[in-house]
Amino acid sequence: MDFSVGSTKISFLRGDITDQDTEAIVNAANSSLMGGGGVDGAIHRAGGPEIIEECKRIISEIGRLETGKAVITSGGNLKARYVIHAVGPVWRGGRSKEDELLRSAYASSLDVAGRNGVKSLSFPSISTGAYGFPIDAASAIAVKSVFKTAEKSAFSEIRFVLFSDPDLDAYVAAAAAFKKTIVK
Ligand code: ADP
Repeated sequence: MDFSVGSTKISFLRGDITDQDTEAIVNAANSSLMGGGGVDGAIHRAGGPEIIEECKRIISEIGRLETGKAVITSGGNLKARYVIHAVGPVWRGGRSKEDELLRSAYASSLDVAGRNGVKSLSFPSISTGAYGFPIDAASAIAVKSVFKTAEKSAFSEIRFVLFSDPDLDAYVAAAAAFKKTIVK
């Protein structure tokens, strides 16, 4: 399913983010940048050791990557030239600034992409796996952040790569609902 926002194609598909041929893929990382399970583990397995070496270098400079922030490394053996590592919030019931921090994870990723000349990138569903963010709320936040940035930037394509059909359905529904609010 595709949407057009300004000059940006925003697409939604079910798939594996490590297979994507966009210039960058986004990793749902944690503050240590040392890899882990879920999409993070899959990206490091497919991308090889170069990515973790760069992550270690970054962590030796900054200590830890704060929740809501993002950094960029090369893509190692991936098709994507870059990996943008973003830290989403752990869901703690909804009163610990989770919405704001998730918005910030998407905004920081797009900001880092823009500053590095990246024109196309793929996002996974940040925070909705091990971090437990409810998918309906997370998809609405993700879609709104990306559509709003796309309106005023020069990305050619922003892809959401969902790992299951129910997740894909939630994101497509969020996109359709958000499109309706901007057409009105
Ligand atoms: P978080 O810790 O931010 O919740 P997870 O990796 O646990 O991150 O999960 C985020 C989402 O990524 C989940 O929907 C999970 O199903 C999905 N996911 C896991 N592996 C992949 C993959 N290879 N490609 C795309 N999405 C993936």
